[in-house]
Amino acid sequence: MDKKRIVIALGGNALGNNLPEQMIAVKQTSKAIADLIEEGHEVVIAHGNGPQVGMIQAAMTELTRSNPEKYIPCPLSVCVAMSQGYIGYDLQNALREELLDRGIRKGVATVLTQVEVDPADPAFAHPTKPIGSFMTKEEADKMVAERGYDVIEDAGRGYRRVVASPKPQGIVEIDTIQALVESDHVVVACGGGGIPVFTTEGHHLKGAAAVIDKDFASCVLAQQLDADCLIILTAVEKVAINFGKPDQKWLDSLTPDEARKYMEEGHFAPGSMLPKVQAAVQFAESKEGRTALITLLEKAKDGIAGRTGTRIQA
Ligand code: ADP
Ligand code: MG
Repeated sequence: MDKKRIVIALGGNALGNNLPEQMIAVKQTSKAIADLIEEGHEVVIAHGNGPQVGMIQAAMTELTRSNPEKYIPCPLSVCVAMSQGYIGYDLQNALREELLDRGIRKGVATVLTQVEVDPADPAFAHPTKPIGSFMTKEEADKMVAERGYDVIEDAGRGYRRVVASPKPQGIVEIDTIQALVESDHVVVACGGGGIPVFTTEGHHLKGAAAVIDKDFASCVLAQQLDADCLIILTAVEKVAINFGKPDQKWLDSLTPDEARKYMEEGHFAPGSMLPKVQAAVQFAESKEGRTALITLLEKAKDGIAGRTGTRIQA
């Protein structure tokens, strides 16, 4: 098999929902990743951070509540950075062990990654992504008045802060990531979609109170690294049309045009499968020969060999 440069986007099931779950999950995840490295592929790993950034945000909020004199609120961009560090640590640790067990000596490194967003992105005017813990009406009103948060009433369960989910425009640390990949390191980058930043004055990059979709960020990463393949590993083996209905049909392959038709017909759920298909199409169309694959974490090896998953190719 040809040696390929592969960007892997890990979904929630690769990392679990809490600390003990994550420690167990990364062992399985490392096996799936090591399978590809063992076959000679160059692998770059991106990942989500939903539960982790929620946990960190909740913890930091409690800290501020307990002693507002001493602790100022922690910006969301800092929470994303913390989640990148902690998830990167677990992945580095587990992957190092799995590779050494297979007799493979290779450096594994996490690059804390800033991803540029456009302050004029329409997403900033329409925050949609709920984050953090539930609040009472009084707490929510206070946050709106004091910090300018956007809050929504979430299905009768209380109030939650919502933040924008702007599109990634570029990866600040791309040259560093590239240099590590070229020198044969396994790199973890763009965790949680990246730390969202925008340029203010001069060279200053300011953290944005936003979260970037990890599927879109992985697509930009794969393009900027000139990868051959973007593999989105998630909780389903294939993409389906009529998902969850009696006439559900699993798809082995999709052209960008077919994908667009199915998107218009509403086959892919927004916030879960839709961004994956959109990212896959964008990558597949970005240059000749680029392929995207959506499959189950445990099937990464079979997927790259063409035995399963849904392949998106122009
Ligand atoms: P991740 O954490 O990997 O990003 P998500 O939960 O965001 O995972 O998205 C994957 C989920 O999308 C699947 O587990 C499945 O339940 C759901 N899904 C929605 N529409 C479809 C579809 N058309 N085909 C397959 N899965 C779909
Ligand atoms: Mg998702």
